[in-house]
Amino acid sequence: LVSRENHESRTVVRVGGVPIGGDNMTLIAGPCAVETPEQTLAAAQMAKAAGASVLRGGAYKPRTSPYAFQGLGESGCKILADVRAETGLPIVTEVVDAADVDLVAGYADMLQIGTRNMQNFALLQAAGEAGVPVLLKRGMNATIEEWLMAAEYIAQRGNLDIVLCERGIRTFEKATRNTLDISAVPVAQGLSHLPVIADPSHSGGKRELVLPLSRAAVAAGADGVIVDVHPAPETALCDGPQALSGSDITELAEMATNLPAMV
Ligand code: PEP
Repeated sequence: LVSRENHESRTVVRVGGVPIGGDNMTLIAGPCAVETPEQTLAAAQMAKAAGASVLRGGAYKPRTSPYAFQGLGESGCKILADVRAETGLPIVTEVVDAADVDLVAGYADMLQIGTRNMQNFALLQAAGEAGVPVLLKRGMNATIEEWLMAAEYIAQRGNLDIVLCERGIRTFEKATRNTLDISAVPVAQGLSHLPVIADPSHSGGKRELVLPLSRAAVAAGADGVIVDVHPAPETALCDGPQALSGSDITELAEMATNLPAMV
C-alpha cells in the first residue's frame, strides 16, 4: 500500500488543511515538550512568526530515563488545543500507547509515532484506525525497509495519510546524538509515494547542527522539516540544547523557502 508501485502520483497529506508533500516545503516547529500554557503559546508564536505552518509539541514523552520529565499527558493535549485555537496552527503530538490513541486523536490534527515505537505494531494498527494523519518516525535502529513495513501496518488499517520522518539512526559516531541519514530521504521517496520529512533536532541533538542538517535535508529533496523551538531553551524540561530561538527559526524558514528553488 505504501509502495510507489501502483501509485502514479506522490501523496499529499493534509494536516488541518496544511499540505505536506507534492511541491510544498512544510515547516513544523514547536517545543519538544508541552510544559505550560505560556511556554507552549510563546513557542507557537515564534514558530508561526517564522513561517511554520504546523505546531509540534509532546504531551506524552518517551524518555530514556524514568526520572526525566514524562510530559503532561492529557492536560498537555488540552494546552495544545488551546494554542491551536489561539494561533490557528494545526498540531502534531506523539502517542506512545495504543490505549491512548483515541484520546490523543481527539485533540490532535496528526498523531506522531516516535522512533522508539516504530515497531510497536499494536500502536501502529490503532493509529491506522484513528482517522487522523500519522507522522511515522524512523526507528533509530531500523532499516528503510523496516520503516516502510511499519508504515504498511498503518496503511493496512485504512489510513494512507502517513508522513515518514527520518530522525537519525544509531551509528558508531558519538559527536551527534544520532546520525541523520540524508540518503534515506531520496531512497524512501523512491520506494514510497508518501511524503518524507526530516528531524534535524532529535538527530543532531545540538542547536548549532539544526540549520546545517536542515539545509542538507531540504537539498536532498525532503518535503519538510520538523524542529524544536523554545522561548527559553536554558530552562526547557526536555532537550533544551537542541531548541532553536526566534532568530534561528527565522533563518531556517528563509532557507527552507529559498533553497528548493536553487537545487
Ligand atoms: C520527539 O519528536 O519529541 C521525539 C521524542 O522524537 P524521536 O522519537 O525522534 O526521538
